[in-house]
Amino acid sequence: MQYPEPIAKLIDSYLRLPGIGEKTATRLAFFTIDMQQEDVDQFAAALRDAKRQLHYCSICGNITETDPCQICRDRSRDQTKIIVVEQAKDVMSLEKMREYHGLYHVLHGVLSPMEGKGPDDLNITSLVKRLQSHDQIKEIIVATNATPEGEATAMYLARLLKPAGIKVTRLAHGLAVGSDIEYADEMTLFKAIEGRQEI
Ligand SMILES: [Zn+2]
Repeated sequence: MQYPEPIAKLIDSYLRLPGIGEKTATRLAFFTIDMQQEDVDQFAAALRDAKRQLHYCSICGNITETDPCQICRDRSRDQTKIIVVEQAKDVMSLEKMREYHGLYHVLHGVLSPMEGKGPDDLNITSLVKRLQSHDQIKEIIVATNATPEGEATAMYLARLLKPAGIKVTRLAHGLAVGSDIEYADEMTLFKAIEGRQEI
């Protein structure tokens, strides 16, 4: 027996989300059918509005309602440092710490030969452009996750940017190997930034 088409389509949609397999997608689809119409409408509207109203900042790649984003527009921030992160959600994690007042750059991923992701698939060209047009930027702090791909990306950026006279540093390994920025607590992040080392 096959699922009615609307359910099959819904299962298929849930399957596109990260970390969701066939079983979970099916469970979520049937759960959605059991929800109140009003709740489903709200859920659908939230998905649509988030996608419509949010964009990537043309300067740093962060998620924003306005372009440039609030952080890039804020001239009171330290214009000499840029923290480079994998995902926009990492910016949120670092901002929660309230100890860093410089700028950010979001790569939207890491170098991953396994997944066929090379430098051109990341938001790197715009970082180089930023450095070329703003000579007050003195330091790039690479805050990619402590995974093999995160390390390889940090090394790539160091090789790319150091010849231009930019200091490239990496977060200290207060972060456990394999750990993600988003799961680190604020104190750990603060110490990782304080203890950053040149690469
Ligand atoms: Zn921005």
